Parts: sequence; C-alpha cells; structure tokens
Amino acid sequence: MKLLAALLVSLCLGAAFAAEPAAGAGTFGAHGFIEYVAGDLPLIIAAPHGGRLKPAEIPDRTSGVVDIDANTQELARAIASVVHAETGRHVHLILCHLHRSKLDANRDLAEAAQGSALAEHAWQEHHAFISQACASAVKHFGVAFLIDLHGHGHADSRLELGYLHDSLDLADCEEALNQSTFINAGSLRWIAQRSTLSYTELLRGPRSLGALLEREGFHATPSPRMPVPTGPFFRGGYTIQHHCKAALSITGLQIEAHRPRLRDTDENRLAFSRALVKSLAAYFPLHLGIRLDEPRRLIEAQ
Ligand SMILES: [Zn+2]
Repeated sequence: MKLLAALLVSLCLGAAFAAEPAAGAGTFGAHGFIEYVAGDLPLIIAAPHGGRLKPAEIPDRTSGVVDIDANTQELARAIASVVHAETGRHVHLILCHLHRSKLDANRDLAEAAQGSALAEHAWQEHHAFISQACASAVKHFGVAFLIDLHGHGHADSRLELGYLHDSLDLADCEEALNQSTFINAGSLRWIAQRSTLSYTELLRGPRSLGALLEREGFHATPSPRMPVPTGPFFRGGYTIQHHCKAALSITGLQIEAHRPRLRDTDENRLAFSRALVKSLAAYFPLHLGIRLDEPRRLIEAQ
C-alpha cells in the first residue's frame, strides 16, 4: 500500500513538473502562430506586433492599426540574450508571429481577430502563454514583472513607458496622482502597495524606470527630465490592462521603443538591450525586492 502511495505521489509530482516547460525551451501554439520560450526569472516579455506571417486562411483585418512594430521580436530576443549572458537565466518570451494585418494581440478579442476563428485561437494562445508565464513567475518568486514590448513611430525619439496613464492624467497635480483611485488604475499597483516611495516617485522620480533608462543614455518618459509626456504618447494597451493585476501579484508596463538608433540595427538593439537589462537589474531590487541575477522568492509571499 505504502509503495503504491509513494508511486502515486511521484507520478503526481512528475506530472506537475512536466506541466512546466524547461527554461529556455521554445514551444509553439497551433500552426506556429504564437511562440513561447519559458523562463526562470520573474520577468516576462511579450512582443505582439513584430510578426511577419500572413497566412491566406486568415482574412486581412479591415479596421484598426495594421502596421508591424518593426524588429520588436528581434529586440525581445536580444534582451533575452543579454539577460542570459549576464545572469545565466532566461526571461519568459511570448512572440506573436502573425502580422498585425492578421491579428492584433494587444486589443480585445473582437478588434484583435475580427471574426476569424484561426486568429481568435491564436489570440487565446497568446494570452494563455502570458498567463502561464506570469503564474510560473508568481509561483517561484512571488511576483511577475510583465513588459509588453512595442515600437512607435512618433517624431520624438524617446521610450514611452505606459503604466496605463495618459499624458493628460500625468499632467494633473501631484496630490491627485498620489490618490488611491489613481494608483489603483495603474499597472504598478502591486509595487505601490509595498513601496515607501510615493506613486509619483515610482512613475517619474529618480528611482523610476524612466530615470534609470535615462541614466543609461536613452531618453524616456515619464522620467525626471520629462515627467509629463508630450503627445502623442502611448499609455499602455489591452495586454497590460488585462494582465497586470495586483491581486494576482502581476505588475509591469508597456514599453514603446523608437526606431532610430534603437531597434533599427543589430548593433543598436544590442546596445539598448544592455541598457535595459542594466536598468532592470537596478529596478528589481529597488521595487520588487528581488535580484535579477540571483532571484529568491519573496519572504512575504511564502
Ligand atoms: Zn505596438
């Protein structure tokens, strides 16, 4: 009897481990439309708009934005490579290989797939992989930090950091921005609930991600230099809104990267990846209580 019980336990454990793919291993959804590379860090990077596949079976989307965010998948892979080179660990990567004219994974299902069953299935897979990656990070580390990576074509060459607040919101007085209703609407809520810093400091103070990126030579907003973004500015879209829930211990932001001298060449993508990883290596201990190169599960979450 004891032997049978032990066998059952080991079978169950085996099944549990088998459910989590090995870090660095890639897997694809149906038809190869969505790729998930599993990680072993509380850092998840999704690139929904860098895909180039245009299968004839999926009709072209007839409304909304249909342009690719050029080289954002290459940028996501470059960031993952730098993280691996510097920490020996893997970020979770979710890449949509469908061209945006076929699927916009950063929109709600109706606008994203516009009635195509194949595109709808790919959308479900994209968000299921993000959920799976975040759940794995929370299980191992107590928190998940999600970056939805995009490319903008705005005239101003700066990184736009989308915490679900638009530029008009960010122009309001400090007092309004530090109120709980405003904080609760943003993607940094999980961090804000635990931080000794004010919310405006988290968004654009000297220890904000914008400040850290500027220190590495990349203009960013919001930041101490540009606390209120000039328009046009992307506030963060469906993915960050849908997944960054404090109750699930998921936080993060949408990063919109300009193209010139950042995502245009292999060399520039590598330079930015190094700057971002250095910024995140400073950001994680400050705001998540976790080192990027030696992550430990948060004590409070155990
Ligand atoms: Zn985009």
